[in-house]
Amino acid sequence: VPPLLSVRGLRTGFDLDEGHVRAVDGVDLTVRSGHTLCVVGESGCGKSITARSILQLVERPGRIIEGQVLYRLGQDHRLLKAPHPSRQDRAAVRAATDGMLDLTRLDPKGTAIRAVRGSEIAMIFQEPMVSLSPVHTIGHQIAENIRTHEEVTKKEARERTIDELRRVGIPRPERRFDSYTFQLSGGMRQRAMIAMALACRPKLLIADEPTTALDVTTQAQILELIQELQEQFDMAVMLITHDLGVVAEVADEVAVMYLGLVVEQCGVDDLFHDPRHPYTKALLDSIPTVGPRAKRRLTAIRGMVPHPYDRPVGCPFHTRCVSAMPGVCDAVVPPTQAVTGPDGTVDRAVRCLLYDSAESVRRGPITAGE
Ligand code: SF4
Ligand code: MG
Repeated sequence: VPPLLSVRGLRTGFDLDEGHVRAVDGVDLTVRSGHTLCVVGESGCGKSITARSILQLVERPGRIIEGQVLYRLGQDHRLLKAPHPSRQDRAAVRAATDGMLDLTRLDPKGTAIRAVRGSEIAMIFQEPMVSLSPVHTIGHQIAENIRTHEEVTKKEARERTIDELRRVGIPRPERRFDSYTFQLSGGMRQRAMIAMALACRPKLLIADEPTTALDVTTQAQILELIQELQEQFDMAVMLITHDLGVVAEVADEVAVMYLGLVVEQCGVDDLFHDPRHPYTKALLDSIPTVGPRAKRRLTAIRGMVPHPYDRPVGCPFHTRCVSAMPGVCDAVVPPTQAVTGPDGTVDRAVRCLLYDSAESVRRGPITAGE
């Protein structure tokens, strides 16, 4: 399956009074069409900043410093159909190679990035009120969103909205159209946010811990809903979570993050049965029990996560790694490398100097099946 989104060498930092903080420091990851990539890691490892960087949603004093966010443009992309594309946007689209557009080159205030956010890549959050307004009815908001991105009449937008509300499992959608967010339960609000995000049929949904604030039953229902819609619309999902139970249930592939880097990306079975990176191994060792609905939050492993102001030189994990090689791991930042599985084919990408061997070809982000 070809990559739909390929993030390469992404660095995002914050210029604070205390100094420059590098929240994302060279992320490489790949999301494939129609597949689910789970991004896991402890809080503060840069998961959310990576997601926000993809859509140029990092706010000042944060900024993308370097790297590429390559997105596959479909035949029917609507990027330049928006009125008055800026010079920068036209240049970015012209510079697309092999059908991959670098989203970091789009005008941050232009119409193209807004079109990307509206109809190509949608994002949902833990807190629905980030995307839903308290002062308009949910129906009004979803209908307006549809009308911003598609040429439909008010009446058509209303009918579409009711269909969308029904699709996400909101009962009596004709009546719920006129509800305000405060009149909905947490789970229903989450459904309304999903209806809003998916109304324009994005090819990729980025979901940043969408179920963390919900009770276990509602959490399961929302995850199921996302999976159903994913299948219906053949949509890719990038799901950010720190719950390995969720990963086991929904992921096709997993990217493990530590201190602003993806340290390992591989298929979900390879992750659970044959982890390679010392951090991934430590994470899995820290899970005491396994059961389908058990809460399996990432628990602490040996040592402390270094403060981002105080990033270790070399491999960011060397201060906690049981396999660290003195004089090497504290000097060299491991590159992302393709690593072969037992049958000799490349099955993942790992950032660890233990795998810096002749059979590991140094190239960009590569994972199973590429
Ligand atoms: Fe451990 Fe060295 Fe690998 Fe980093 S590069 S994970 S310190 S062995
Ligand atoms: Mg977060």
